Amino acid sequence: MGIIDDLKLLKEIIWYNPSYTRFDDVKYNLPITLEDVLDAEARLKRFAPYLEKIFPEVENGIIESPISRINNMKNRMEKDFDTKIYGKILLKRDDLLPIAGSIKARGGIYEVLKHAEELALKENLISLDDDYRKFDNKEIREFFSQYTIQVGSTGNLGLSIGTISAKVGFNVIVHMSSDAKQWKKDMLREKGVKVVEYSSDYSKAVEEGRRLSYNDPKSYFIDDENSRDLFLGYAVGGIRVKRQLEDMGIIVDKEHPLFIYLPCGVGGGPGGVAYGLKLMYGNNVHCFFAEPTRSPAMLLGLATGKHDEISVEDIGLDNKTEADGLAVGRASAFVGKIMEKILTGAYTIEDQKLYVFLKELYYEENIFLEPSALAGFLGPILTSEKYKNENIVHMCWATGGSLVPKESRGKFLTMK
Ligand SMILES: *Cc1c(COP(=O)(O)O)cnc(C)c1O
Repeated sequence: MGIIDDLKLLKEIIWYNPSYTRFDDVKYNLPITLEDVLDAEARLKRFAPYLEKIFPEVENGIIESPISRINNMKNRMEKDFDTKIYGKILLKRDDLLPIAGSIKARGGIYEVLKHAEELALKENLISLDDDYRKFDNKEIREFFSQYTIQVGSTGNLGLSIGTISAKVGFNVIVHMSSDAKQWKKDMLREKGVKVVEYSSDYSKAVEEGRRLSYNDPKSYFIDDENSRDLFLGYAVGGIRVKRQLEDMGIIVDKEHPLFIYLPCGVGGGPGGVAYGLKLMYGNNVHCFFAEPTRSPAMLLGLATGKHDEISVEDIGLDNKTEADGLAVGRASAFVGKIMEKILTGAYTIEDQKLYVFLKELYYEENIFLEPSALAGFLGPILTSEKYKNENIVHMCWATGGSLVPKESRGKFLTMK
């Protein structure tokens, strides 16, 4: 298989999915429906008054990010890469999401709140039409403190789940892989979160967390490799884009297709967002996943059809990347199977280019992103080789960065 050989050689490639199918022909065979996503959105709405109360920085209690136009960046990319990009480029600013500073604020916070709601309903501490500010109460926090939440993470999911769980009142244990940055661990410990460190990669941290959690009947494991609820939290982000683009006066239709580029780790974040977008735009949106050349887990799983039965180590790669949010060697089969026919394509990018984009974006637009969050930028360059259409609306999904401390920013900005 040519593509696997290219991945082995750490080549940057773009793969157009040969199984891509019109959305209308697949949507009824998928395990998640529009109703499921709307139900998740309604749940987040119920929690909005509570979130606004405990995190005043969350405007109206709705965790959402703006969309920016980045024309200077587009010009700079065309110049630096000596290429033409057809259409306009937008940036989805999940780096600015409150509480967690990354796309993980969508899935992680949703799943923790859903779990809290279920426990509270069962105990009759709350009813569905109550004002959820009731959750901000000593007795309820004490009730939750009998329960533990556990999660395995390369950093950002732990940051999201650890922060919200501690605030709600749960005990929380985050199992961090070796990729996790020190500042992310420090920040969590300051919030009273128990951080367990592993010298191995993400899959091992998840496996250990899962095992420890299953041995404790009062512990709930948030399973990044299989979680339907994380997926739904991310999918809400996808469906909200439609309204945002309408408000900006940006048209998406058959003549003006939307191309989305999503940095991908295990797959839940980009998969959920892509799914929400497909529900809104059907065939008028094309979603692409972006992965480091050393960690192309999802591309490998999709191209071989093996999903989680193959890892990047199996083809001789080391899964070592500065893009800590994407340092995943084995993709989620749950997500991979949903994406099988609805993902337009996937590509790989070298770490070196992440730094190039990091600096360009900082100097052209004064936006700082963490390395993982820049993987989307190669997308418009790659697809412009195939689609020479000025009506295309490209959107790179900036998945994180606003919490990165100053010292680390300086390091990235001066990197050669
Ligand atoms: C987690 C993460 C991703 C990818 O999300 P997955 O659900 O792991 O695929 C992308 N960017 C950043 C910054 C992340 O933290």
